Amino acid sequence: MIKALIDLIFPRVCSYCDVPLYEGEAVLCTKCRHDLPLCEWTNSQDNVITDKLRGRVDLQFADALLYFEKRNKTQSLIHDLKYKNQKHISSYLGKWHASMLATQKWTKDIDVIVPVPLHSKRLKSRGYNQVEDYAKEISGTLGCTFDNRLLKRNHYSRTQVFKNRLSRTEVIEHNFILNSNHNYEGKHIVLSDDLITTGSTAEACFLELQKIKNVKLSLLVMAVA
Ligand SMILES: [Zn+2]
Repeated sequence: MIKALIDLIFPRVCSYCDVPLYEGEAVLCTKCRHDLPLCEWTNSQDNVITDKLRGRVDLQFADALLYFEKRNKTQSLIHDLKYKNQKHISSYLGKWHASMLATQKWTKDIDVIVPVPLHSKRLKSRGYNQVEDYAKEISGTLGCTFDNRLLKRNHYSRTQVFKNRLSRTEVIEHNFILNSNHNYEGKHIVLSDDLITTGSTAEACFLELQKIKNVKLSLLVMAVA
């Protein structure tokens, strides 16, 4: 009753096309949800992401929910999540991805899911890490640990400024620090992020994570460009 009243006063609308949402719909109307380009990869060991990181990281498995292109609906959704204070898009995509991951064999032995951390300055201005609720939904569905303290973001470096002086990887590597207070030796750790483009952020995180003895490393992202 109260919810119906609130919906009447502040109608919930599709985050893409602004049509009012029906009960049971969240974030997107059914049409826009259908239009989103799902990856639906059948091979989690040989795909666009494993190709991007080949030779850079010893990656076991990787999966993405959506394809990201300039001006497509995925871009709009990720943009709203990061810059329009629409935090709920994170858990929406997490629930969706989790339901698909739950049927994949490789996800059965995941021990812990680690979101890519935000620098504290950005966390303060945005108010939330846009990857955390996505990662929490997946850890809840798969029954593994969520850990947002294993990686810490170091100083806020402006990559462009240093680009000419140091190699890109060298600079970014120092952006993340592994918290040595953990018991993940020999565990299967999954890094999660919103978007993978060149893979350099993920690579920088993995450089830290692979300092843990005998770890298995995998990657889950909302979208891949
Ligand atoms: Zn719509």
